[in-house]
Amino acid sequence: MCGIVGYIGKRQAYPVLIGGLHRLEYRGYDSAGVALLSDSDRLNVYKAKGKVSELEAVAEEKDCSGTVGIAHTRWATHGGPSTVNAHPHVSESGNLTLVHNGIIENYAVLRDQLKQRGYHFQSETDTEVLVQLIEYVQTSLGLSLEDAVQAALKRVIGAYAIVVLDRRFPDLLVAARKSSPMVVGIGEAEYFIASDASPIAEYTKQMVYLKDEEVVVCERGRELRVYNLSGENVPVEVKNVELDLTMLDKGGFPHFMLKEIFDQPSVLQDCMRGRVLPEHGRVILSAVTEHRERLCQARRIVIVSCGTSWHAGLIGKQLLEHFCKIPVEVEYASEFRYREPVILPDDVVMAISQSGETADTLAAISLAREAGAFVFGVVNAVGSSIARNTDTGTYIHVGPEIGVASTKAFTGQVCVLTMLALALGEARGTVDAGEYKAVLNELQQIPGKIERILAQNDRIETLSKIFTYAHNFLYLGRGWNYPVALEGALKLKEISYIHAEGYPAAEMKHGPIALIDQEMPVVFIATHHQLHEKIISNMQEVRSRNGRIIAIITEGDEVVKQMVSEYIEVPDTLACLAPLLSVIPLQLLAYHIAVQKGLNVDQPRNLAKSVTVE
Ligand code: GLU
Repeated sequence: MCGIVGYIGKRQAYPVLIGGLHRLEYRGYDSAGVALLSDSDRLNVYKAKGKVSELEAVAEEKDCSGTVGIAHTRWATHGGPSTVNAHPHVSESGNLTLVHNGIIENYAVLRDQLKQRGYHFQSETDTEVLVQLIEYVQTSLGLSLEDAVQAALKRVIGAYAIVVLDRRFPDLLVAARKSSPMVVGIGEAEYFIASDASPIAEYTKQMVYLKDEEVVVCERGRELRVYNLSGENVPVEVKNVELDLTMLDKGGFPHFMLKEIFDQPSVLQDCMRGRVLPEHGRVILSAVTEHRERLCQARRIVIVSCGTSWHAGLIGKQLLEHFCKIPVEVEYASEFRYREPVILPDDVVMAISQSGETADTLAAISLAREAGAFVFGVVNAVGSSIARNTDTGTYIHVGPEIGVASTKAFTGQVCVLTMLALALGEARGTVDAGEYKAVLNELQQIPGKIERILAQNDRIETLSKIFTYAHNFLYLGRGWNYPVALEGALKLKEISYIHAEGYPAAEMKHGPIALIDQEMPVVFIATHHQLHEKIISNMQEVRSRNGRIIAIITEGDEVVKQMVSEYIEVPDTLACLAPLLSVIPLQLLAYHIAVQKGLNVDQPRNLAKSVTVE
């Protein structure tokens, strides 16, 4: 969601800023802009509605010189996507310019107060109050830029990551954050600022992750300085961040989403490396080793997450209840945080998030911490806010996920939850030794089995052509495959804009069956595990009403093959690992249907990759 890039140093800023915006495009946005202090000390601001390429078309005919600048991709919250509402915004005097990610909740009050003091507003955004407020504080109190930023932010309620440039001080960029992500890269006599490490990684590994209510001053020729909002110095914590840059490219695939689907065999191996140890016949997770007692004593586990991560959580519930015999609840973080949940000190609250920046999940874990629960993170982005705000956790280590529709993060999350259920089940003595060994051995076979499904990509592409016409889809599954039905439906909705519902197959008779006719494709996730006969009966019911079935079946399931004309086979595996395989054809099906429809698979309309506002 929204991207921020800032640069100050010896290079020309424009290529760094535009390259950085491209790196952040995956987060989802609707307009873009850049501000540069030119070599002749002019402040040039260029903006465009639409893609970064449209901004480039506007900017490249103009003066793009300068060694300091800020840039932004906007995901509109207040005021529609337009050139006027795009950031950077400029202050009344024209001296200050600012980019912002987040929401200023008290913007209306602040705007009225500033209007009374003679400030004029050009846009409908909440952001514009920030640049005017900083200028007002700076001029009325005679403060330096950094002090003005601190003083102004004390009056602000809401979430922000901002970077401010003052044209009178070409050697200075000031940035700050609260509840929105921000990282500063330290190069040789240069500083990079961005919403995440991906725009910075090609220049430096030295990164500083800002904490809430911190203000950072990047000044040419001086060390980086960090303050809190009271103006006190905060020690600068520099981290060495290694990002695999090849993961940030499409690697020959037409879309990031397809590349990430195909990445799954290798990244799941990365996810299991050093954790699934066949030579010791064990799964070892450092979080479980280090916090064994606390985790073993958990009376209950509450999983909080959103979207695809919530689906992974539903599978996690089944895994943890099965292997650890601990009751598990799975909650939407956005509901949990606002409904006075009962959280007890012997609960473990588990946050699952790809980006580690999901605003609602972050708020849910703050609530859990206040209530004294132990907080466990299952996160992909190393060093992200959730990773830093949990008592312990396990990274999924699947590399940066750029496609807005999550694929490899889902299987990575399920893989981590499986390892966690095994490790914790062993620690609690609740897992059967034979089953433990069987799951451990089979887990290692999963990457190879995913390869076999991916080898059917052409077949799935051909199949997708039949269904491009559909306006509605139903996805049905039971037991371990029920969350997979939800996830398959979500993938299709997200990128093909076809309405799709996931349902537990047996619930079909309580409503959705009324929708079934020859226009309605029904995807059955019908691998030959628990309740297989029952799901075959559900298929018969759909057939009797002329519904068109696409069945995901276990290799060699002749019974279902005889019944349906469209099917995709997946290799056999243990029931509890079935989701790791049955989701793969659904990812490919959604991908190919969206491509057939000519849609932007990696950046679907209205969606953002990392939902950093509530
Ligand atoms: N709330 C601001 C706006 O609507 C910033 C949105 C964003 O984070 O991109 O302009």
